[in-house]
Amino acid sequence: MPAPEPDRAPARRSARFAVIDPATGEAFDEAPDQRPDELDAVVDRAHRAWHGWRADPAARTTALRRAADAVERAGDDLARSLTREQGKPLAESYAEIARTAARLRYFADLVPRTRRITDGRPVHSEIRWRPLGPVAAIVPWNFPLQLAAAKFAPALAAGNTMVLKPSPYTPLATRLLGSVLATALPKDVLTVVTGREPLGARLASHPGIRHVTFTGSVPTGRAVAEAAAASLARVTLELGGNDAAVLLDDIDVDRITDRLFWAAFRNCGQVCMAVKRVYAPARLHAEVVEALAQRAKTVVVGAGTDPDTRLGPVNNAAQLARVEQVTKQARADGARAAAGGRRLDRPGYFFAPTILTDVPPASPVVTEEQFGPVLPVLPYRSLDEAVDAANGTGFGLGGSVWGTDLDRAEAVADRLECGTAWINHHAELSLAQPFAGVKNSGVGVAGGPWGLYGNLRPFVVHRPREA
Ligand code: NAD
Repeated sequence: MPAPEPDRAPARRSARFAVIDPATGEAFDEAPDQRPDELDAVVDRAHRAWHGWRADPAARTTALRRAADAVERAGDDLARSLTREQGKPLAESYAEIARTAARLRYFADLVPRTRRITDGRPVHSEIRWRPLGPVAAIVPWNFPLQLAAAKFAPALAAGNTMVLKPSPYTPLATRLLGSVLATALPKDVLTVVTGREPLGARLASHPGIRHVTFTGSVPTGRAVAEAAAASLARVTLELGGNDAAVLLDDIDVDRITDRLFWAAFRNCGQVCMAVKRVYAPARLHAEVVEALAQRAKTVVVGAGTDPDTRLGPVNNAAQLARVEQVTKQARADGARAAAGGRRLDRPGYFFAPTILTDVPPASPVVTEEQFGPVLPVLPYRSLDEAVDAANGTGFGLGGSVWGTDLDRAEAVADRLECGTAWINHHAELSLAQPFAGVKNSGVGVAGGPWGLYGNLRPFVVHRPREA
């Protein structure tokens, strides 16, 4: 009888988790499920890479420009990967990749200003700007690449290194982006880590991280701030929104309908600063509801890989359940669906684009962030009532006012309590503008030079004016 085989230690292989195609609801690939204790070595390497990267601003500019070129060259592969795991139409994936490259180019050329203060004392004070060290970026699944770029482009331009963690719902396009960027950046300047919780929590509290920049929901943002308190790292939080669009009584409904619709439904409504509530003058309310409902009924909904699709699936099963639940609750509260109102009867996470009317203002679809293809349209009687309602939530990311008289619209926009207000459009951002939410929508400022300085610390040298 042969001797039994001795027990062999199993080959060490990092665990993996499934990645689901939201257009089918089926797993189509997998990604490494990195353990929190793997972060020690990753952060250590990021720290060592920092010393070389911080030393040469001109080399950084060249590398970041080359990185932008590399992203564009890889556009086809990145777009396919993004659409497959995120669900958005391919055209939107290409637009996201273009914005990723644009951010790299914008920050590649941005340099902090050294300033000298002469205030009558016999010394010069010179303010120089220094990088912080390894930065942790934690991002959500709605715009995995461009939101990551909104973090790594300013952080790297400022001379920091970065550890980037995408959402477990969308790890693959970010991993691919990481390897594309690695062709242009020195080793370990940017490292992508993937895995399920508690990987993000551990990254946020890691003692080697000097800045935690997070984009995601309000509850997770709070958890991240608490975790980062352990090492007193700087924290930037870009959180949820519940943006209102206030329509004035001089709007031309036909003219604005398409723009207003897409301001709410782009990326299947999964946009932090999508229009999430519409306030229409009572006199025009029925006309606005009808116009938006007609638009919703004619939108082609389907897989993002189909070239005819304008609206893809919701990204994941939990988000679909949330969208269903707030819609059901609204109906139970007395709302009526003028279009949609339900899941589509097909595989995948599809929800019909939904326009809700007769919605009580206290229904969660109005007071909370629905983050999906559902839009409540509410009537108002006075402008004060509309502005109070627009400002009457715990969020303050963006808002918009729509009207023909631009001066009047701007006067109303000025009363919105949010970080960015638009007139006759919504959610269009300039790379050069500051981006900051108020109330629960965020802490800190991203975007433009403010985004660069958010990744730097002032270092002040005083020297006598004369020897
Ligand atoms: P989420 O908060 O669930 O997750 C965001 C990220 O945090 C993911 O990578 C997730 O894996 C990670 N995470 C989860 N638990 C964590 C923990 N305890 N510690 C550290 N990290 C943790 O958000 P989501 O569902 O992926 O994204 C949707 C939300 O993001 C919406 O609220 C939306 O408004 C918001 N968002 C905000 C902006 C903005 O710029 N303000 C932009 C896009 C999305």
